[in-house]
Amino acid sequence: MATTKLVLITFAICRLILTVGLTVDPTELLRLVVDGQLSVDPSDVDTASKDFGLMSRAAPLAVLHPASAQDVAGLVRAAYSSPHGFTVSARGHGHSINGQAQTNNGVVIQMSGGSLRSGRPGQAARVSEKGMYIDTWGGELWIDVLRSTLEYGLAPKSWTDYLYLTVGGTLSNAGISGQAFNYGPQISNVHELDVVTGKGQLLTCSEEQNSELFHAVLGGLGQFGIITRARIALEPSPQRVRWIRVLYSNFSAFTKDQEFLISLHGQPSSQKFDYVEGFVIVDEGLINNWRSSFFSPSNPVKITSIDSEGGVLYCLEITKNYDESTADTIDKEIEDLLEKLDFVPTSVFTTDLPYVDFLDRVHKAELKLRSKGLWDVPHPWLNLFVPKSRISDFNEGVFKGILGNKTSGPILIYPMNKDKWDQSNSVVTPDEDIFYLVALLRTALDTGDETHTLEHLTNQNRRILRFCGDAGIEVKQYLPHYTTQEEWMDHFGDKWARFYKRKMEFDPRRILATGQRIFSPSSVSSSLGVGGDKLSVS
Ligand code: FAD
Repeated sequence: MATTKLVLITFAICRLILTVGLTVDPTELLRLVVDGQLSVDPSDVDTASKDFGLMSRAAPLAVLHPASAQDVAGLVRAAYSSPHGFTVSARGHGHSINGQAQTNNGVVIQMSGGSLRSGRPGQAARVSEKGMYIDTWGGELWIDVLRSTLEYGLAPKSWTDYLYLTVGGTLSNAGISGQAFNYGPQISNVHELDVVTGKGQLLTCSEEQNSELFHAVLGGLGQFGIITRARIALEPSPQRVRWIRVLYSNFSAFTKDQEFLISLHGQPSSQKFDYVEGFVIVDEGLINNWRSSFFSPSNPVKITSIDSEGGVLYCLEITKNYDESTADTIDKEIEDLLEKLDFVPTSVFTTDLPYVDFLDRVHKAELKLRSKGLWDVPHPWLNLFVPKSRISDFNEGVFKGILGNKTSGPILIYPMNKDKWDQSNSVVTPDEDIFYLVALLRTALDTGDETHTLEHLTNQNRRILRFCGDAGIEVKQYLPHYTTQEEWMDHFGDKWARFYKRKMEFDPRRILATGQRIFSPSSVSSSLGVGGDKLSVS
């Protein structure tokens, strides 16, 4: 068994040598990763070659299941110091859409699951009740972070809608949900990180220590280092959630109310909601969609029964957390807040559930979709940050225009306060105090209906981007996907020079997260200036 493994690994390393000119001694590489597992098992390699989007495939040579941060550092050091280099991509849970965690002819580090979960001394998540934080492995799933903190009656403050994502993966983007108006994205709720840089150095960073690295990595698309530990801020965990949906037929009433609700972020918790999201209902099919089982069967909604503007309805989704001490006052607090809103009377849908069930709501939908074979299918998702001043033009041009009464998946829309986003972090947002997330979370299906096909939906995404460009709506992609450096420079705008400088400092050989297609590894192209060559895919 051990001999077979050695032969397979030596074979993979020989392929590495042949393909990218890696000249590291194979036995040295084996020794470097001896705590974990360097796998060339076809099923491991196959998993690492694809992602949730199912729209691109890569061909990694091997997959490292690290047992410690030292394993990660050892592998990156080997890549950095080999004469020609080889690429290394951290893969969280592979929930990217466009191959962002993939790499060709390099090694994927599978951060979630694997050796580490067996709980090595000093590696297990550690909660500090006094400090109100958790120290967690970068590949930990948020659902497991939640389980660990709940043992202490605590929970992270800022979330994503879905918890089967990794800490390192969401912190490399931003990590947003309906709590972001109040607490900022997940990257605004991190005290400290351990990061393996592109030179293979394992560094601790925070606002006070190695702060340039800290801010580079947060929202940094995996470009500057691999997060092996994150210290996440916690709060006392609520026990229950009142979850409310109300409908609007008028877009400006809907956005006015959303913006009013997020303006309450500085108020005492009794005078604001804890979560503000919303979605667009373009066709009746969406009512039975994975995000909307809420309405049925006991709460059926017929779009046709409401006088909608051009067949489009908008649903505001809000929650209020509570526990025993506030159970008596919650009804009144909600009533007072709802009174200030301008939704369609009689369209209030309410449910009440444990806090954990609310946070883990999308997983239930996932299980349903999996059982119908509708999860492992292509997902041509498009996530945009739209400036507040142009959200109404976006509504006219996209929701009422380009989508043409067919959506193929939920469309989320909710505003956020820019002052909750630290501008030193790498992520980019529109240049306005309030901007919206618009998430077109579509699924391509082979149903015979042309409008469900991958080709139709990807073309529609292109049309939406073109429409924004032509109309001068300065959107920023969230979970961005571009293929040329010009597009990336445009995306980063005046943050590009700093992004580039940070890259040269922390990953000068450009070996990390090449699946983002921002930089070419130095083994492939040695001269990539700010003026920029076309990118070659690693
Ligand atoms: P991956 O997709 O594996 O990796 C993403 C990027 O981060 C890659 O470039 C990778 O190289 C890099 N990376 C991974 N781990 C590390 C690490 N430890 N250190 C440094 N770089 C690393 N996002 C939201 O913000 N809010 C949501 O509500 C939300 N809901 C979602 C629901 C579903 C069903 C899905 C599929 C995705 C959702 N996302 C949401 C998007 C999600 O945040 C991204 O997919 C993100 O990439 C995290 O996924 P992951 O942990 O699997 O990371």
